[in-house]
Amino acid sequence: KAQAAVKIAKRSGKVEIYRNGVLKEAQRRFSIESRLRDALAQGGLTLAYQPLIHLPTGEITGFEALARWNDAELGNVSPVEFIAVAEESGLITPLGRWAAYEAAQALARWDAKFGQPMPVGVNVNLSPIQMARDDVGAMFEEALRYSGIAGRRMTAEITESAIIADPDKARKLLVALKDLEMSIAMDDFGTGFSNLASLHSLPIDILKIDRSFVFSMLEDRDKAVIVRTILSLAESLNLKVTAEGIETQDLALALQKMGCWQGQGYYFAKPMNETDAFDYWRARWNFETI
Ligand code: C2E
Ligand code: MG
Ligand code: MG
Ligand code: MG
Repeated sequence: KAQAAVKIAKRSGKVEIYRNGVLKEAQRRFSIESRLRDALAQGGLTLAYQPLIHLPTGEITGFEALARWNDAELGNVSPVEFIAVAEESGLITPLGRWAAYEAAQALARWDAKFGQPMPVGVNVNLSPIQMARDDVGAMFEEALRYSGIAGRRMTAEITESAIIADPDKARKLLVALKDLEMSIAMDDFGTGFSNLASLHSLPIDILKIDRSFVFSMLEDRDKAVIVRTILSLAESLNLKVTAEGIETQDLALALQKMGCWQGQGYYFAKPMNETDAFDYWRARWNFETI
């Protein structure tokens, strides 16, 4: 029966299409890996900076640093795609190191432009693979020292899966980051399976509510319930909350009213290059309104 199916599929060209699909996928993965290796060696990646807004006042508290890659052959490749390849291929080690140094250096360059330390920080994303494999504490210590940036101006964004994989290792790492006076944010919160005990016992400062809950919370009662639950959980555990994916003023105002600490999303600004992010901040830093 299966053979008959293959025969029919062959006749209709479906096996060919399937085979081509798998081949194409493998080829793309391979070319991403080899071109990403070159890009990392030659400084071909950049960071984009998306503002983080203190919702009670509208002040810009910092920026999330997001990796960007525009390749001559592949064009713009989404970080969702190239971070996954970096994780599978081991390139996440040099990529993660580059991101930490580059974010700290960007702060130093902004401070130099401004003429004094700016009252903003930068968030850097950490991959669970990177946390399992690399000495991320030493990496940040060196990046901060190299750039002359105070640790309290940097936040590490981690995910729930990094803690589930190896809780003891995660604890040691987070404690090392806290020793540097860095903050820890739990990214994409609500999409994973963290247990409440670990949220309470690990030195986590911030929960970032995943944008899948935020963007439809005004139309979808279930989403609104989840957001409210995360906000009250955070209050009980003495954690701050950032809502990601705020695309409208209605959402910004609703979250402000609900007592959410910080917001991020296209309503405020899309991720911007280093120069535009600085100009965005300089034009607004002493104005306060959302
Ligand atoms: P993330 O850390 O959850 O970052 C937030 C993502 O949401 C970013 O996507 C951002 O551009 C997008 N976003 C922000 N506001 C809005 C909004 O209002 N609406 C919508 N629809 N999207 C919004 P991006 O830049 O494509 O990054 C995707 C993911 O790639 C990140 O998710 C993060 O997990 C990963 N990533 C990016 N840079 C790095 C990095 O340097 N290291 C590691 N390990 N991961 C990174
Ligand atoms: Mg993030
Ligand atoms: Mg996120
Ligand atoms: Mg995300």
